[in-house]
Amino acid sequence: MEENLFQPIRKRRIWRWVIALLLLAAAAAAAWVVVFRVNQFSLTVVPAGPSEVILEYGETYTDPGAGAVLRGSLFWREGLDPRIPIHVEADVEDGRLGKHTVTYSAQLRSLRASASRLVRVVDTQCPVITLTPDDPENLLPGKLYEEAGYTATDNFDGDITDRVVRVETEGLVTYSVLDSSGNPAYAERKIPVVDRTPPVITLNGGADYSFLLGSCFDDPGYSAEDNMDGDLTDAVEVTGVVDWLTPGTYPVTYTVRDAVGNESIVTRNFTVRGAPRQDTVTPNGQVIYLTFDDGPGPYTHALLRVLKKYGVKATFFVVGDENPELLREIVDDGHSIGIHTTCHDYQKIYSDPQDYFRDLYAMQDIIRRETGVETWLMRFPGGSSNTVSRRFSKGIMSTLTRAVEDAGFRYFDWNVDSDDAGSARTAKQVRENVIEGLKNHRVSVVLQHDIHDYSVDAVEDIILWAQDRGYQFLPLESDSPTAHHSVNN
Ligand code: ZN
Repeated sequence: MEENLFQPIRKRRIWRWVIALLLLAAAAAAAWVVVFRVNQFSLTVVPAGPSEVILEYGETYTDPGAGAVLRGSLFWREGLDPRIPIHVEADVEDGRLGKHTVTYSAQLRSLRASASRLVRVVDTQCPVITLTPDDPENLLPGKLYEEAGYTATDNFDGDITDRVVRVETEGLVTYSVLDSSGNPAYAERKIPVVDRTPPVITLNGGADYSFLLGSCFDDPGYSAEDNMDGDLTDAVEVTGVVDWLTPGTYPVTYTVRDAVGNESIVTRNFTVRGAPRQDTVTPNGQVIYLTFDDGPGPYTHALLRVLKKYGVKATFFVVGDENPELLREIVDDGHSIGIHTTCHDYQKIYSDPQDYFRDLYAMQDIIRRETGVETWLMRFPGGSSNTVSRRFSKGIMSTLTRAVEDAGFRYFDWNVDSDDAGSARTAKQVRENVIEGLKNHRVSVVLQHDIHDYSVDAVEDIILWAQDRGYQFLPLESDSPTAHHSVNN
């Protein structure tokens, strides 16, 4: 029974404890609500330094770090809290060019925060070109330069020697290269100036030179000019032979070298043009071609009057330019005019075919100039059978008789000789010689010289004799009978 007396007291104490504990729990809950709900917490990560970092390739990245800022409105002052650990995540160390991100994160209880930083790894460093120094031997003037060597290295790409662009110009070699980021490098070195330009040969008259047989014996000329040595015309070697007297094409080569051996070779083709040979048309009936050589002279005018009186056309193989008015009178009267020579000097014309042709064309020019007639009729002084020429050049008549016809001329000899340049010294002798000759030929080519009065004096009688007997007088033309002699030299 006794024990029961105390029981209510104990019960009251326990209830007190219970109430106290309940009050305490309620207070703690209220405090928790105040601290963690009413007080608005926030956690922020703030990177130190710039938000973007540019890093040259190869440089070591040093992270400036970051801090955590915890913000709360009731109990904590705002600011960095070094006690909150920052977790850093970065891939900068692999060294790639381009963008990298560094991520900073922090956690405090249930609060999480993060921030990042951009790291840009760039290559702005230029490559380096290194030239191997030259051996002085390699730099001798005029010597072709031999590359001494070079390398190119880049901080990022390493050895880029094979990407170097090397350009050698006169006196200078340049080297340039770009690395993979486009950074350039350039180097150069001076080298001996080497002349690699050959001389230039200029051919007067062109590379194809065509001329009528016999009208050209001299090279029309050439010149050679070099960029370093100047005029090298005298150094030109000419090889090749032109047969000026035979139709055909003849290559002639011109070669010249400058002081360092640059060579130029050009070829000129000389074409010697020939003319087709003309066929002879022998006229019908009894025909006389009177021909007068070596004039015109003091008696030519009188001769022309006689010829005109009887309506006779003859042929004059003329010499020189001393009587231009007579040359014109011959042509105006309708006679044929042909070339004899400019000088009638055997030594001068028969020493060399070139001299002969020079004279021939010169006389053709005189006749053309004075009369307007371009004649291709001609007679060799002394005739084609002359032996005088042998004294000056052996065989020249054989050459000339062929060559003049290849050149388009037509040479005439004679089959009736008045001998007025020989023993006939009177008109009577001349007349008798000619008439005797006429009797022996149906077609006669008569040789007389109008520089002899006695020969001119014989002409009227010869005409009268022949006209009585029905002979026809004709002037020589390019298809007339030529009365060629046999050549004796
Ligand atoms: Zn003559």
